Amino acid sequence: MELLDGKATAKRYRESIKEEVQVMAERGERPPHLVAVLVGNDPASDTYVQNKVRACEKVGIQSTKLQYTSDMLESDLLEKIDELNHDDTVDGFIVQLPLPLHINKYKVIERIDFRKDVDGFHPINIGRMAKDMPAFLPATPNGILKLLEHYQIPTKGKHCVVVGRSDIVGKPISMLMGRWGYPGDCTVTLTHKYTEGLASYTRQADILITAVGQPSLITGDMLKNGAVGVDVGITRVNDETRERGYVLKGDIDYEQGKERCSYLTPVPGGVGPMTIASLLQNTLLAAKGEVFHEDH
Ligand code: NAD
Repeated sequence: MELLDGKATAKRYRESIKEEVQVMAERGERPPHLVAVLVGNDPASDTYVQNKVRACEKVGIQSTKLQYTSDMLESDLLEKIDELNHDDTVDGFIVQLPLPLHINKYKVIERIDFRKDVDGFHPINIGRMAKDMPAFLPATPNGILKLLEHYQIPTKGKHCVVVGRSDIVGKPISMLMGRWGYPGDCTVTLTHKYTEGLASYTRQADILITAVGQPSLITGDMLKNGAVGVDVGITRVNDETRERGYVLKGDIDYEQGKERCSYLTPVPGGVGPMTIASLLQNTLLAAKGEVFHEDH
């Protein structure tokens, strides 16, 4: 089994992003600028935003974190988004999800100018992606494509089974794996919690992509010999033997998966670092205005 090493691959992507940012600086251009909007004080969201901001700094991308209290009015958030849409010093911005329940996330996402939507969540970006048009691709699926590409995993004509149908991972990656070109041209099956006989599908998978959040949902007997396993799931599992009291586990039983798979992502160190690298790349592309320049 060969490791699909997201940590090492993401490092290489970050280095090339850093070089491009340096070239921009040498030309006297300002660095790309990402703004992260955080509403409320959910500790997990806070950590995610912190990681994104830190990753920006490391490659020379300017980042600004805007934090608001959980009682922020929806109208005030929409106003802030309008401001960011019109701010020429901001290339891209993200509104960290989940939002407090009184705020309609769909309304918020739709308000973002799709040319600044570096998370790739805006319906225009999703629609453009579905139609094979240039778009900001959502970070996690885009990171998976980059990882498959980096390891030159053949995809044409392969059966890709996706487990989980979330808007941010399962649904978009199922579309992307079925698109024209490389990585793509797969026959795709999208499964979810109401799928009957999940194992009968996963056993057919040449490429299995799981985004569920249930440790060891996929056991060795559910994998085809030689499968490529891409495990997006990350769940904290209590472990008193660890100093921090928990370990992070993926959806694929790692020990059993190692015996069956030809390639497998570790958790952590697989898809996670690739997700952040993709966000940085989208921000760079936004600054260069390169995504939509052909048709806008
Ligand atoms: P989600 O939590 O919104 O939804 C889970 C999905 O799993 C649903 O579509 C549901 O139908 C499906 N599901 C639930 N039980 C199932 C079962 N028994 N069999 C088959 N399908 C089942 O999904 P999400 O937001 O994509 O998150 C999934 C996991 O991926 C979580 O652990 C999350 O932390 C992780 N995640 C990691 C990254 C990363 O960068 N590594 C990014 C996003 C999400």
